[in-house]
This record gives sequence, structure tokens and C-alpha cells, in this order.
Amino acid sequence: MFDNLSERLEGVVTKMRRKGRLSVVDIEAALKEIRLALLEADVNLEVVRKFTSRIREAAVSEATSRALTPAQQIVKLVNEELKATLGGDAFRLTFASSPPTVIMLVGLQGSGKTTAAAKLALHLRRQGRHPLLVGADLARPAAVEQLRILSESAKVDFFSETTSPIEVARAGLNRAKSLGRDILIVDTAGRLAVDADLMAEMVAIEDAVSPDYVFLVIDAMTGQDALNTANAFAEAVNLSGTILTKLDGDARGGAALSVVEVTGKKIAFSSIGEKLEDFDSFYPDRMANRILG
Ligand code: GDP
Repeated sequence: MFDNLSERLEGVVTKMRRKGRLSVVDIEAALKEIRLALLEADVNLEVVRKFTSRIREAAVSEATSRALTPAQQIVKLVNEELKATLGGDAFRLTFASSPPTVIMLVGLQGSGKTTAAAKLALHLRRQGRHPLLVGADLARPAAVEQLRILSESAKVDFFSETTSPIEVARAGLNRAKSLGRDILIVDTAGRLAVDADLMAEMVAIEDAVSPDYVFLVIDAMTGQDALNTANAFAEAVNLSGTILTKLDGDARGGAALSVVEVTGKKIAFSSIGEKLEDFDSFYPDRMANRILG
């Protein structure tokens, strides 16, 4: 992912290495390579514009810094801008003062939402929490069964019933309270695209359980279209952040760099494989370092 960004940057930085200070020509040469690399990685055009213009501004104002070589300065600026574009400081999940903390997952079908629900439950269980997983994706019977099986592997409690998605969510909340579970994770029905009925169902579930967090699950392999669809979710529900999945894939990486700008929300968690353990909080600084190799 982003091999082209590090390669292109390395090319331009190698040429700069012997020069004494960062010149406008150096900055423009670097920006050209960065712009090309980002566009090749399918980063949203608007994000590319903002990204490069912020680097230009910072580069000009730091042009007199003598502590670093020009090459080091450019790499530092790109690293800082990558971190900012990926959301800046890491997202922090805080827990409701009166449990359970209610978390609702929404997203397109195939985004990895159901597996992310179980991964998140395991992640929180390992932090000493006691989650209850609720299967409210009644549109796809296999999804409930899939979540039940995953909950066994994650060693967390599971609840579902064949009433209605809203009833399941509400009953799940009551169950969590009566069992003394401190986290409720509700998996909702996926969508192939923005679908009015399913959107209405999602909003009704949100009303029924008043989630502390609503996370939109986004497949990092998807391109610009899926990200724009994601915007429709952001408008319909009170989105807290996103969960980026399939970061292990050979995606060009554009989604990761565009998602914060497009949704206006931080990436809270990331999934980097099919196994339940392949999941963690998302750290913009670590990702920026990874991108720059
Ligand atoms: P849903 O339709 O959104 O609930 O998607 P699922 O949770 O059923 O996931 C769809 C497919 O993506 C499954 O085959 C998952 O194993 C796979 N998947 C989910 N997350 C990841 C990930 O981070 N990396 C990889 N490689 N595969 C994933």
C-alpha cells in the first residue's frame, strides 16, 4: 500500500540530499511527485489538493530551518500531513458512566461489518470488558448465524431473536442490563447501496437503543464511489467514527487517506486480516510511518 508514494518521495528526496536548504524548486518538485502518488493511489481529488497545499504552506514557512536537511524537512512535513489527514490524534473510546456502552455498527454489505462486530467484542473483552453481541441483521439469516459462531470463538455472549431488527436491538439492550454486561455491540443489516428502507431501519434502531457510538464499517479496498456512499450514512445517522477493514489487502490505499476528509470522522479501529485478532485501535501516526516506510 502506498509503495508509489514512498518510492516517488525517495526519488525526489535523494536528489535533494546534498543541498543546503529547502528551495521553492525542491518543494514544487516534491509536491508534484506527492500529487501523482496520491492520485495513483486513488485518493480523493479534494483531499489531494488540501494535502499538497498544506505541505506547501508548511514548507514555505519552515524553509529557513537549518536543523534538518531539505530532504529530512520534506519527509517530516509529509509525515505530519499524513498523520493529520488520517485524523491526527487517535480516537479514544470512553465508556458510558451507566453501562452498557452501546455501540452500533453500520455499513455496506461485504464491508466486513459482521466480523468487525466480533473483532471489536474480542478487543474489548481483552481489555477486561464484558460485551454482549447482538445480531440485528435479520435481512440476511446467515449473518445472525455467522455472528453467533464468531461470538463463540471470541468467547463473548450473543443475543438475537426472530422478531424485528428494532425489537432485537431493544431486547438486546435489556438483556445486557439484566446480565450486567458493560458493552452492547449491535450488528445491523448491510446494504448493497444506499437503500431507503434499510436506512430507515438503521435510524429506527438508533432511536431504539440511543447508541453511545455508531461506527461505519468501510472496506479499504473500495474506491471513491463507496466512500461517497458512506457519506449518505454519515448524513442519516449520528456517526462517531469509522472502522476501516481489509487494510491487509493490496488496496492502493486511497480510501484510508480519504475517509476522514470524506466522512468528517476519525478512523476509530482498523482490521488487518480475517482472523479475530487482526484488529486494533487505529493510530494515525503509526499508519503515517508505515506509509513512508
Ligand atoms: P458484512 O457483509 O459487512 O457483514 O461482511 P463480513 O463480516 O461477512 O465480511 C465479508 C468478508 O470479508 C469475509 O469473508 C471476511 O472474512 C472478510 N474480511 C473482513 N475483514 C477483513 C480484513 O480485515 N481483511 C481481510 N483480508 N478480510 C476481511
